[in-house]
Amino acid sequence: MTFRVYNALSRTKEPFQSLEPGVVRMYNCGPTVYKRQHIGNFRSFVFADLLRRWLEYLGYEVRQVMNITDVGHILDDEEEGEDKIEAEARETGRDPWKISREETEVFLADAAELGILEPMVRPKATEHIPEMIEMVKGLIDKGHAYRKGDNVYFDVTTFERYGRLSGNKVEDLDAGARVAVNAEKRNPADFALWKSDPRHIMKWDTEFGPDGFPGWHIECSAMARKHLGDRIDIHTGGEDNVFPHHECEIAQSECFTGQPFANYWLHTKFLQVDGGKMSKSLGNVYTIDDVKARGYTPRQLRYALLRGHYRQPLNFTWDILQEVATALEGLDDLVARLRRAAEGESGAADEPRAGMEFVQAAQAEFEAGMNEDLNVPRALAALFGLRSHALEGHFGRESATAALEFLGRANGVLGILDLEERTLDAAVEALIAERQAARAAKDFAKSDELRDRLAAMGVELQDSADGVTWRLK
Ligand code: AMP
Ligand code: ZN
Repeated sequence: MTFRVYNALSRTKEPFQSLEPGVVRMYNCGPTVYKRQHIGNFRSFVFADLLRRWLEYLGYEVRQVMNITDVGHILDDEEEGEDKIEAEARETGRDPWKISREETEVFLADAAELGILEPMVRPKATEHIPEMIEMVKGLIDKGHAYRKGDNVYFDVTTFERYGRLSGNKVEDLDAGARVAVNAEKRNPADFALWKSDPRHIMKWDTEFGPDGFPGWHIECSAMARKHLGDRIDIHTGGEDNVFPHHECEIAQSECFTGQPFANYWLHTKFLQVDGGKMSKSLGNVYTIDDVKARGYTPRQLRYALLRGHYRQPLNFTWDILQEVATALEGLDDLVARLRRAAEGESGAADEPRAGMEFVQAAQAEFEAGMNEDLNVPRALAALFGLRSHALEGHFGRESATAALEFLGRANGVLGILDLEERTLDAAVEALIAERQAARAAKDFAKSDELRDRLAAMGVELQDSADGVTWRLK
């Protein structure tokens, strides 16, 4: 069984093979910490988390690095672009260092709520200035970069493969750039490695003058190299990172080291809201807190962000989130049914052969889906297939236990199921029994009153033909 991934560099699905057997070196572009990350950003981060978990399922040791961009977000066209952290600082009168520190904490808390596992390292750009300077100097020495005053630019004409990832051509980029943009550059398509501006608050005194700060692209090249080495297996980001960010990273890293940088490039398509862009002016930029304020849980949001294929745009609306919540209830119900069957409470005769076959088929389908360029919809369909069998009462003790074990492994990848075993304390058990007795005696007033009391204690009852089940709210 081979894991195949769509590699943006070759524009084809390729079998995945790591540089070192059994080990994957992966770099994920992280957040720019100038304000709270929205749920769209988290689609990219949840995808990176899913990829790491799938590689671990396959048995790899994953050396995962996701950076924190806490300074110097320079866009390609610097005059038009901005350092987002500095801009936020100017607008709000706050200290940019404080903004990035605080927003980093908020990001980490949000990521944890979404069940995103901690990467091996979360390097901060501000803590890697010497590594960036080393690369900038090396690129000048090798003739790939040039200094103009206290600014340093990368000369895109010195790297033949520039444009290979994004499909851009230097001539077209030059022609498209506005002439007035920056007279310092040799070619309009050149990009900044290091900039100087006395007005910048976050700045470093280096051989390029006292007021310098890094370009966004060099940050990721330097942090990837520091923590993973000159060559890495996988590099990820959102679709907007392809150009200029990743194109520029490739140019810098490969010109500096003389080796290929990342073998596989994976990009997450944007999360859309109401079928369109998420934007401040439309008032549809949502954070995890907005989702929680509407009564939804981070687990439901994680499911909503994961459920589509990462190379397809994914739509988000409150109605969709409601549908997602219902679908997830179906999976919770599957777990509850399997648990009862594993305890021998399903009433179903044990059908070890048929039951075990369903579990094996579900696992094979789940794995085939994930191996097919992380096709989550197909992997999820395998879990819903198990639910159909559970509804038909196909699982006895042995096969239900095997099914639960499989769900545990699948959840190690998806992180959306609630598999924690819950028990009720004796007092609650007694109240449930008392209500059942009232119901049996057709004392519905008492039965309803007991149901409400239990609800107030966070225990929700569901009556069905086979009796009553409960879940904790
Ligand atoms: P930023 O904080 O702007 O650097 O963005 C962090 C990450 O989120 C980047 O990898 C972006 O490509 C990604 N991103 C931004 N908007 C969206 C969106 N609507 N859907 C998915 N990913 C996004
Ligand atoms: Zn990056």
